[in-house]
Amino acid sequence: MSRPLIVSDCDGVLLEFADPFAAYLQSVHDLTMKLESFSLAGNIRDADGVAVAPERFPALLDGFFTTHMPTQTPIANAPGSLAELARHCDVVVLTNIADHHAETRTLELARIGMPYRVIGNNGPKGRPIQALLEEYQPSAAIFIDDLPPHHSSAKKHVPHVHCVHMVAEESLRGLIPDATDADARIDDWAAALAHIQRVLKG
Ligand SMILES: [Mg+2]
Repeated sequence: MSRPLIVSDCDGVLLEFADPFAAYLQSVHDLTMKLESFSLAGNIRDADGVAVAPERFPALLDGFFTTHMPTQTPIANAPGSLAELARHCDVVVLTNIADHHAETRTLELARIGMPYRVIGNNGPKGRPIQALLEEYQPSAAIFIDDLPPHHSSAKKHVPHVHCVHMVAEESLRGLIPDATDADARIDDWAAALAHIQRVLKG
């Protein structure tokens, strides 16, 4: 019998991102990230206060994932909530990260209590979710992500998937816009677990 499928984002949902990334920028590159808008790149400045050119951002992000991924700590209650869901559901982590980092991420998540399949994605998430539905043929599906465009993409390609907009990192809550295409907005895992269990029972 098919099981429900949980598709979860990683950065900002399962793992802290903003604080560890800011710490990396400071310690390795002497750059300061002060979150004043949700354009991460535009918020990074050098020691003289000059904004870093957006072209440098991909390399900075790649450097962070290459050497500092282990500094990303779990979001509170994420490992326990996913473990509870995994008793009756399949769990897949759908993360926008380059392929060569997806393997490290798989090992890193397993090391801190989240031993799930990881798919490295690039761009909108609606179609990859659709591919997962075709593969797993789940009885129901839930998608969790902190970025509104991914919920819009999910609504377009897989409208029957229940979408939870979660901004687990407090420093990003005032900056990320509402995801009007999501079905629910829940920022912490304890409440999200109860919500998902309710949705799956219904
Ligand atoms: Mg994210």
